[in-house]
Amino acid sequence: MEKKLLKGAEYLLTEVSKDDVFTPEDFSDEQKQIAETTEEFVTNEVMPDIEAIDQQDFDKVVAHMKKSGELGLLMIDAPEEYGGLELDKATSMLVAEKIAPSGSFSVAYAAHTGIGTLPLVYYGTKEQKDKYLEKIITGEWIAAYCLTEPGSGSDALGAKATATLSEDGKYYILNGTKQFITNAGFADLFTVFAKIDKEHFTAFLVERTFEGLELGPEEKKMGIKGSSTRQVILNNCKVPVENVLGEVGKGHKIAFNVLNVGRFKLGAAVNGAAKYALSEGIKYANERKQFNLPISKFGAIKEKIADMTAYVYASESLIYRLAGLLDDKLATIDKNIDNYYEEYQKGIEEYAIECSISKVFCSDVLAKVVDEVVQIFGGYGFIQEYPAERFYRDERINRIFEGTNEVNRLLIPGMMLRRAMKGELPFQKEAMKAIEALMTPSFDEIDTDAPFAVEKELLKNLKTLYLVVSGAAAQKFMDKIVKEQETLLALADIAIQIFAIESAVLRAEKNLGKVTEKKAALMADAVKVFTFDAVEIIAKAARKAAFFVEEGDNLMMILSGIRRFTKYDATGLLQAKRNLAAAAIEAEKYIF
Ligand SMILES: Cc1cc2nc3c(=O)[nH]c(=O)nc-3n(C[C@H](O)[C@H](O)[C@H](O)COP(=O)(O)OP(=O)(O)OC[C@H]3O[C@@H](n4cnc5c(N)ncnc54)[C@H](O)[C@@H]3O)c2cc1C
Repeated sequence: MEKKLLKGAEYLLTEVSKDDVFTPEDFSDEQKQIAETTEEFVTNEVMPDIEAIDQQDFDKVVAHMKKSGELGLLMIDAPEEYGGLELDKATSMLVAEKIAPSGSFSVAYAAHTGIGTLPLVYYGTKEQKDKYLEKIITGEWIAAYCLTEPGSGSDALGAKATATLSEDGKYYILNGTKQFITNAGFADLFTVFAKIDKEHFTAFLVERTFEGLELGPEEKKMGIKGSSTRQVILNNCKVPVENVLGEVGKGHKIAFNVLNVGRFKLGAAVNGAAKYALSEGIKYANERKQFNLPISKFGAIKEKIADMTAYVYASESLIYRLAGLLDDKLATIDKNIDNYYEEYQKGIEEYAIECSISKVFCSDVLAKVVDEVVQIFGGYGFIQEYPAERFYRDERINRIFEGTNEVNRLLIPGMMLRRAMKGELPFQKEAMKAIEALMTPSFDEIDTDAPFAVEKELLKNLKTLYLVVSGAAAQKFMDKIVKEQETLLALADIAIQIFAIESAVLRAEKNLGKVTEKKAALMADAVKVFTFDAVEIIAKAARKAAFFVEEGDNLMMILSGIRRFTKYDATGLLQAKRNLAAAAIEAEKYIF
């Protein structure tokens, strides 16, 4: 059967087939090989230095970056024409995942290969790429990205930094302060955003040695202490006119498109961090004895291990499903066309909603995991000598950078509404049908023998529920809905959890008969454990939204619909948790 490539956000409007999703079990040998090389490098070379890196031994960070360059890990997304590997997004995400256990180092790596390199790849002229790209992708030079300012974070376009053309027309003179710049302490090339004549938001390639570029002191941070974070101060910084990146006044395109990539890669990276933290938690639970038993024998600890396993399974299923969507879309673009990178970015932007979902969902999962891992370590979880303490501190930033989780949550329904309004997706029409379904309950029997029939019926109902609630909100607030943040956040939570449940279910279904029976059964257990919790989140978010937007009979009708549409028969839940825990405790790691 031919694979159907869904549009961004279309998953909410249609039934998705298992054949249309990419799963980690679909990785090619080449992808697995690159993952293995990365894992060996991180385990054998970076991890032994992790304490020194956390003490801000930046020479070690730079040395490992250069070694990453030698291994080809800095050139995954770079064009072949400039010596890059130009591999698919699934590979690029897999590498981000494998680097992630290194915490601070992985942040330095992500900033360099993502926001540091991609603006040049996507928008650089031939001359700019000839001059800089090889240095960057081999690790000879380190890159940084300067968008945030002391007065403008989420509101990035509110930047105050200015650029003024010099009298001889040869330079732009940049002034202003950029805040929280990752890699600043040792970067050689900075992509800096400033407004020409205080108006035209524009990107510039700024070398470290350019006159007038100064650095603030290292920030003293809560976590990822081994990554460099400083202010970049532009004090009449002279930048040659040929170093304008992209078009004058079009810097916002660069800033935002690159963030989409950052978001799906962050999803992959935090998934890697969660797997690692979970594995350390399980190992400790097997070693630590209380009441003459390893604590992993206690149901309380087993349940934590089972839940974490199920959440990470969902997070992993979600990010690689997104990788598949991106890769399939990007494969449709002809590499020989002149505006290849323009089309390429439109391809990524098609899934901007899923990129935000990946960022929010996976960083929230990591937060849950590190919290539970500290709890498994007990008092030792609070002590720096043990790894859980670092996991806990390092995790926190992921819910803040690459767009805070609030900003990303708001973007999800916001972008859907915009696409609906442009007529790109038939949300209104489907919402009408959903309201009909709300008023006329169907009593069709479902064939419970079919694989995941219960979950698939649930997904159908949850999508209807999303449409009912978003339709009611749109009707109530009309074009003012973009300002109704409390309601938008609730809608985002519903959309996020639906995507996660569906990714978990379709992966398990697709791999039935492909993986061992034992693994398939464990996947089904993970689906059950995860879905049980996710559906509760959806029910709560939907109830909240209903109270925000409705009253009287309409409210009662929606509340009763929520009860009906979120009904999930999780028979066997306890056994599913015990199965997952037993397998994870035996393997002493994440099991899928
Ligand atoms: C360690 C670290 C490394 C970083 N690396 C880089 C880097 O390399 N380059 C770079 O350019 N930046 C970098 N940043 C900056 C980072 O991207 C910003 O901190 C982030 O975008 C949030 O901006 P802010 O800190 O100004 O918070 P604010 O924007 O002030 O947000 C504060 C709170 O208000 C909420 N909020 C803000 N606006 C809205 C809104 N419209 N609606 C609802 N809620 C809202 C936010 O969600 C948040 O909860 C880094 C930050 C840190 C801490």
